[in-house]
Amino acid sequence: MGFEALLGNERLKDNLRSSLGRGKASHFYLISGPAGSGKRTLARLLAAALMCEGANPPCGTCSGCRKIANGLHPDFITVDDPEKKTVPVDLIRKAMADIYIQPNEGKRKIYLLPRGQDLNLSGQNALLKILEEPPPYGAFLLLTDNPERLLPTVRSRCVELALRPLDEPLLRRELERRFPGNDGISAAISRSGGYLGQAIELLEGNAQIPQQTLDFCEAFTLRNTMTLVKTLVSMEKWKRDQWIPMLQQWTSILEEALASRSGGRAISEQARAIAASRSSADILSAIRQIQKCTEYAQGNVSCAAISGYLQWVLR
Ligand SMILES: [Zn+2]
Repeated sequence: MGFEALLGNERLKDNLRSSLGRGKASHFYLISGPAGSGKRTLARLLAAALMCEGANPPCGTCSGCRKIANGLHPDFITVDDPEKKTVPVDLIRKAMADIYIQPNEGKRKIYLLPRGQDLNLSGQNALLKILEEPPPYGAFLLLTDNPERLLPTVRSRCVELALRPLDEPLLRRELERRFPGNDGISAAISRSGGYLGQAIELLEGNAQIPQQTLDFCEAFTLRNTMTLVKTLVSMEKWKRDQWIPMLQQWTSILEEALASRSGGRAISEQARAIAASRSSADILSAIRQIQKCTEYAQGNVSCAAISGYLQWVLR
């Protein structure tokens, strides 16, 4: 089996194979990447590799690998309460006490923290205590879509595995395999940012569209200045790393709308609504303005200024 179940990310997989092959596993891994980039897939493969008794871990056939794959390994423990907004600190303290109890059957005890972005300061400080002196068999897999939110002291103790977008031909091949004959594949690829999980959600129609995007699309479709201004004002205090993906999402919906005006198929109803009510010239001009703002956000322009600029040019 190996790490092939994770598509793309060849360098990351090579590095893991080589460090694990040399018996140089770390106690702490930080797996980062946006939604749908494969964080959980990689965490599962890595946990299996750490637990594997076979050659070329994860072999996929030993008892450790199979139990991890089926979610049945007693020494692979998830630390989270999805009902809570932040990861409760008492769960981390519990893990901290539990880690000093020997593994049940595996050669390691592995803790998965799936929401690293939702660890508050006390949670991170509790975690730091484990990171300082782990038992030899202990391992932590910390997943996050925003590594910037972690304390530098936490981050520096982890081996960081950053997931990258897939090349278009690879993504297209995989989507054509999973959704044969689906004519929304090209649109899903351009909206997904290159992340398989996002493209699958789009094609299955389950993608969660943020409220700001829904409001922006509605405002743009109906030329509703009030909604547009309200949406942009609500984003004035956002950070750059929130603005950039939002602007990229707006751009890709507008691009989808533009493509559908020249005969392409729009997968999202937002793009279809825009295409039905705005001219290609309008859409193209909005794309150019938003792309300009994406460059501003990547540079040094303040987010409040970008919000003000967009309120002016998109009215
Ligand atoms: Zn194995």
